[in-house]
Amino acid sequence: MTIIHISAECYPIAKVGGLADVVGALPKYQNSSKISSKVIMPFYDNKFTQSNKFEKVYSDSILLGNDREDFSILTLVNNTLGFDIFFVDVPSLIFKDYVYSSDDTERFLAFQIAALDWMSTWKKLPDIIHCHDHHTGLTPFMLQESNKYEAFREVPNIFTIHNAQYQGWFSHEKVGLIPEFNFDNVGLLDWGGQINPLATAIKCAWSVTTVSPSYMEELKSAANGLESLLSSEASKCIGVLNGIDVTVWNPETDPFIETNYSSKNIIKGKSGNKKYLCDRFNLDYNKPLFAFIGRLVLEKGADLFPESFKTIIEDKNASILLLGSGSEDIQNPLTELLANNEGIYNAFIGYDEALSHNIYAGADFLLMPSRVEPCGLNQMYALRYGTIPIVRSIGGLKDTVKDISEKNGFGICHQEITVPSIVNAVNRAIELYTDQKKYKNIQKQIMALDHSWNNSAQTYINLYNSLKHPIND
Ligand code: ADP
Repeated sequence: MTIIHISAECYPIAKVGGLADVVGALPKYQNSSKISSKVIMPFYDNKFTQSNKFEKVYSDSILLGNDREDFSILTLVNNTLGFDIFFVDVPSLIFKDYVYSSDDTERFLAFQIAALDWMSTWKKLPDIIHCHDHHTGLTPFMLQESNKYEAFREVPNIFTIHNAQYQGWFSHEKVGLIPEFNFDNVGLLDWGGQINPLATAIKCAWSVTTVSPSYMEELKSAANGLESLLSSEASKCIGVLNGIDVTVWNPETDPFIETNYSSKNIIKGKSGNKKYLCDRFNLDYNKPLFAFIGRLVLEKGADLFPESFKTIIEDKNASILLLGSGSEDIQNPLTELLANNEGIYNAFIGYDEALSHNIYAGADFLLMPSRVEPCGLNQMYALRYGTIPIVRSIGGLKDTVKDISEKNGFGICHQEITVPSIVNAVNRAIELYTDQKKYKNIQKQIMALDHSWNNSAQTYINLYNSLKHPIND
C-alpha cells in the first residue's frame, strides 16, 4: 500500500505547530514491509532547506488561473527521516522564508495542483491520499471534480482536521484558480458565500478525521461555523487521537536537553534541567516551576495569563517561565509583566525548538488552559518528560489527562476557562508539589505512559482499508 500525505508542514523541515509533528511522525510509524508512507510538502526557503541537499525528480509548469508557473519536485538527498519526502518547489510563489502569510490561497493552490499534476504522471497511482488541514482542503474536491484528475476518481482520499478554527476562506472571484470542473458542482466549494477549503474537504473527502475523539464530538457544537456540516457528515467522521514520536521526544537521548535521563534517574535528570532553566532565566530553583509553551492566542487561553500570573507572583510560591509568541494584545501584557518580577517570572517571546525541549525536561508543571485544543501534543511531551500537565479538560486534553483526584489520576484538570480556575489549579499543583513522595510517584507513573503513534498509526491503516467511495456507497 502506498500512502501519500500532503501537508503544509512537516517536522523537522518546517514547523509552526502540532501539524508538523504529526506529519513528521505518522508516516514513520506507518512504514512497514507492506506499507510505504510518503510525504509531499512545499519547498520553503528556511534553515532546513538551506542546510540540506535536494535532487530534482521532476519539473513542469502549472496553470494557476491565467498564469503559468514553473515547478519542480525535489527529494531530499541523505534522507534520515524514516520516510520518503518530496517537495513542491514553485519558486515564484512558495519558496519564501515563511510557511503562512496573506498570499496563502495562491501558494497552497499552486502546491496542491503541482502535487496532483506530478502524481498524475506516475505509472501507478497511490493507494491512499491523506490530506492535512485546509491548506490541502481543495485536493479532495479536485480529485473528485477536476476534469484533468479523472484518473484519481477511484483513489481513496482522507482528510484530517488538525484545527477547525482556520478554514482558508477566499472569495468566489478566485474560483478560476481551480483546475476546470463541472460548474454545476461549484456549490461543493461554498460555505456561507465564500470558497471554504475546510468545508469543501469535509464534503468531498471519503473520510474525515480529527485529532482526538472528544474534539470530534465538540466540533458538532463549536466548529467556527461548520457545526451543521460536521453533524450532517458525521457518518464519515471519526476522531483518532494523535500520538507522539517517541524517538524524537525521548529524555534519555534528546540532544536538545542539558541532562538526559530516564525514569530510573528522574530526580537527578529533571533537577539538572531545571537548574539549567533557572540559571538561564534567573528563576528560583527551590520553587515549583510552572511553564507554558505555545502560541499566545485566545485558543490557548493565553489572554488569561497576565492576570493569573499576577496573583501567582504575589503569592510567591512558584516560578513561571513562558515560551511563545502570538497576538500583540496578549504578548504585550506578558512582556510588561517582566518588569519588577525578576526572579519569579520570565518569558522568551519567540519560537525556539531546543528551548521547548529543555522546558519539557526542566519544568515541574506545564500549563495548558486551552479554550480549544483539538489534540494538544504538549501535554503528551510533558508526560513523557515527567512534567505534570495542568489542563483545561477540553478536546484531546480531556482524552489524555486524568485528574489526580481520580483513581490513577496524574494531572491537574479544570473545567472553567477563567483566572480563578487557573490560579486554583496552580494552587492544587503547589499542594501536590509539597507532598514530594506523591509528586515523585506521579512523575514515575507519567513517564511510563505510552502515547507513541503505534496504536493510532494502525487505526489509520485500518481506516484506509475500510474506505468506500462516498458516491458509490
Ligand atoms: P498547536 O495548536 O500550536 O498546533 P500543539 O499542541 O498541537 O499546538 O503543538 C504545538 C507544537 O509546537 C509542540 O511541538 C510545541 O512544543 C511546539 N511549540 C509551540 N510554540 C512553540 C515555541 N514558541 N517554541 C518552540 N516550540 C513551540
